[in-house]
Amino acid sequence: MSRFNTPLNIEKIKVSKIDQVDFNKLPFGEIFTDHMLVCDYRNGAWEIPKILPYQNISMSPSARVFHYGQAIFEGMKAFKDIAGDAWLFRPDENFNRFNKSCERLAMPAIREDYFFDGLQELVSIDKEWIKGGAGNSLYIRPFMIASQSGVMAAPSDEYKFIIICSPAQAYYGGEVRVKIAEKYSRAASGGFGFAKAAGNYAGQFYPTKLAQEEGFQQVVWTDANTHEYIEEAGTMNIFVRIGDTLITGPTSDSILDGVTRKSLIQLAKDNQVKIDIRPIKVSEILEAQKNNTLKEMFGAGTAAVVSPISGFGYRGEKYEIATQENSYAMMFKKKLNDIQYNLSPDPYGWRVSAY
Ligand SMILES: *Cc1c(COP(=O)(O)O)cnc(C)c1O
Repeated sequence: MSRFNTPLNIEKIKVSKIDQVDFNKLPFGEIFTDHMLVCDYRNGAWEIPKILPYQNISMSPSARVFHYGQAIFEGMKAFKDIAGDAWLFRPDENFNRFNKSCERLAMPAIREDYFFDGLQELVSIDKEWIKGGAGNSLYIRPFMIASQSGVMAAPSDEYKFIIICSPAQAYYGGEVRVKIAEKYSRAASGGFGFAKAAGNYAGQFYPTKLAQEEGFQQVVWTDANTHEYIEEAGTMNIFVRIGDTLITGPTSDSILDGVTRKSLIQLAKDNQVKIDIRPIKVSEILEAQKNNTLKEMFGAGTAAVVSPISGFGYRGEKYEIATQENSYAMMFKKKLNDIQYNLSPDPYGWRVSAY
């Protein structure tokens, strides 16, 4: 059901590629559905969105995105339930955050009607690509880029808003050991760490590569001023369980306001798990590790829901975190998944019909 009755221009593919795809062996984010949504911003306004066969886009090599990184994105998922109905999870959160990111990168906000009608029509047209069953989903990637030609260092006057979709299976990151950052930062106070900006990711690759060479899979980012407080785990929000208290940092201009994070906070509150939202010092983690009260650390984000951390490195030392029998991470993952796949009631109104 279209929320706003946007008059979309739709051009469908003649023959679907879906039969060529092995849904039991999906590499994450490499296979895309038959269609994509494209909406152009010109002369101060968004033009009517188009749904087109998935295809390359053409831009001048001087387009601003290539030079100044004016690019933002979102990551969300659609899930199919046992009856075959498809659901989105808190899409309004993604929409609102998208436009917050736009504002910080001096980009025009996308219209709410175009975002939702475009998204829902696209997902509806490609709904065969959403497979039911545990772990299966459709990963949805809305993004916006500065498309105006000319290398003048100024915000673009033209933009492209695009949505592409990729079928995904359960995401197993394997064992995750993290290096707590002592030198590098992901985001700085006054910067744009709270925005889902492409540039935040570009800046993470090199320090992450260095950590990988030391045998870690990810970096736990610390605050840029003192490196005394943890901020995020790779591209996920971070939770630490000390004793039976779950702790996560408050959002700030250097911490992304994750939808998974805020959902886990709500679930903790409603399931009698003590949750503290406050800055977490690295020294506190080391202390808890020493006196055996550090029970869990995990990342939280759309791709994996939760990603348990089995060890960390700091100042040349390596520490292990024993697997927890009654893990909060796994309990919350199940509760969230049950809501997402329509396996449990949703008292929060988080589950929204995908089309
Ligand atoms: C996307 C992202 C997250 C997780 O956000 P979700 O809305 O839960 O997917 C956390 N941290 C960073 C840096 C991110 O880019």
